[in-house]
This record gives sequence, C-alpha cells and structure tokens, in this order.
Amino acid sequence: MIHMTADPNPAQTSPQPAPGRPLVEITNVDKHFGEFHALKDITLTVHHGEVVVVIGPSGSGKSTLCRTINRLETIDNGTITIDGKVLPEEGAQLAQLRSDVGMVFQSFNLFAHKTILENVTLGPIKVRKLGKADADALAMDLLTRVGVEHQAQKFPAQLSGGQQQRVAIARALAMKPKVMLFDEPTSALDPEMINEVLDVMVELAQDGMTMVVVTHEMGFARKAANRVAFMADGEIVEVAEPETFFTAPRSERAKDFLSKIL
Ligand code: ADP
Ligand code: MG
Repeated sequence: MIHMTADPNPAQTSPQPAPGRPLVEITNVDKHFGEFHALKDITLTVHHGEVVVVIGPSGSGKSTLCRTINRLETIDNGTITIDGKVLPEEGAQLAQLRSDVGMVFQSFNLFAHKTILENVTLGPIKVRKLGKADADALAMDLLTRVGVEHQAQKFPAQLSGGQQQRVAIARALAMKPKVMLFDEPTSALDPEMINEVLDVMVELAQDGMTMVVVTHEMGFARKAANRVAFMADGEIVEVAEPETFFTAPRSERAKDFLSKIL
C-alpha cells in the first residue's frame, strides 16, 4: 500500500537489497537505426523487486533501451526475457508480455477527451476484460494511492502536470505490470511538481515494484535505486550501487558526466 504521507526520516530510507530471481534479462542486445548503432551489446538483468536507475547523456540510448524492453522497438541481436519468457517479435503473445511491462513517459499521454477515471479504466476494460464496476473500483484505489482521487471526474487539461503524471502512473499500474519503466518521468514538469511524482515512485519502489527508471534525479537514485546503470554512446559503461557510482565512478565517461550534472 502506498501512503502519501511524507517520509519522517528520509535519511534512514535505504534501498531494499536486490532480492528475487531475474525478472527482466537483457542479453547481448544490439539495435541499429539504419547505419546508426543505437544499442551496443547491452546486457543487464533486473531482479524481482529491484530498482535500476539508468542515467547518461542525451542520445546515449536510454529511451531506446526502455522501448526495446516492451518491444516498442525491435532489436537486431540478442534476447530480452520478461519473467523467463522471451519477448517475441509480434502476435498475441507479444500483447500479453507487453502488458507485463508498464511504461510512463516524459509526456503523460493521457487521453484528452476522457476523464481521469476513464483514462485509468480503459486498459483494464479493453485488455484485462474487467467489468466497469471492477475497473472503476480498481481505478479509484490506484488514484487514491497516487493522491489524485478527487480529480477522477475531471479531464486531463484541468490537472497540473504533476497530477497528470501521477494519473499516468496509476494508469500503468492498472494493467498489473510485473515491471514498470519510467522514461524521464519528471523532466517535463515544473520544478515544484517533481517531488510529488518522485514521492509516488519511491513509495512504489518501497512497495516492492520492479522498476527501470531513466532519470537525472540523483536524489531519487540515492533513495530508491538498488543499482545505477550508466549509459554512453549506446553502451552500458558501468553498473554500480548508487553510493559507489556517485562517489567513486570508475569510468572517465561517468566522471565527466557527473561533473556536468552534480
Ligand atoms: P536518450 O534517451 O539516451 O537521450 P535515445 O535512445 O532517445 O537516447 O536515442 C539514442 C540515439 O538513437 C540518438 O542518437 C537518437 O537520435 C537515435 N534514435 C532514437 N530513435 C531513433 C529513430 N526512431 N530513428 C533514428 N534514430 C533514432
Ligand atoms: Mg530519452
């Protein structure tokens, strides 16, 4: 259960140790856009309940990596498995596996002409075949978890950016994903709204959700990440626990990147 109250003692909040079995296994993945080599021999395992923060310069392949994990992009080489099942190229199986992967983008992508409640119930009704009453109850529960239950009958444009992004998180959770991908979820937000979204994500992490989070929010990484994966030029250059990565990055590229953002 997510509680919206502020953490009384954030300094003592430490990431869970990476527990369970592999949930997302990315093995030797390559991706080209024409001649351009966007992902170079990517290997990364995300375990059940683990939070991996992906950081790196613009254009390093972070979004492409996220998009390959739910097959919004095809891959040229390698394999990606979700909970032991290889992601197929297409077909009904792909739809099932893709629904195991929730995704939250920088732009919230809510349906403008549907209410907040409808935005959240649409997927469960269409894809998970829930009845309207069950879908409404689920949606209200999730909207309460992310703190926007009072906005249920409004339309997206009537909400702040931070509220809309929290709705987008609720909408993704309504599909009961096994893993949540976040691609720079706060970078389109006004500064005062960033924390309300990060707080929801921290609580989701503390609830045990498996998450891959592309973000430059180092506070979030320190608080919630089990590991940080640093990408540059289509490669994963290093993977380390947050404290190690931020205080003693090994690679020159990571040192250079951190010197620019910290
Ligand atoms: P990041 O999210 O780290 O900023 P991206 O994954 O968006 O990086 O992009 C990595 C590289 O791949 C960039 O050089 C980008 O221009 C290129 N790229 C991404 N998507 C496409 C595409 N659909 N077609 C061609 N090039 C692309
Ligand atoms: Mg990106």
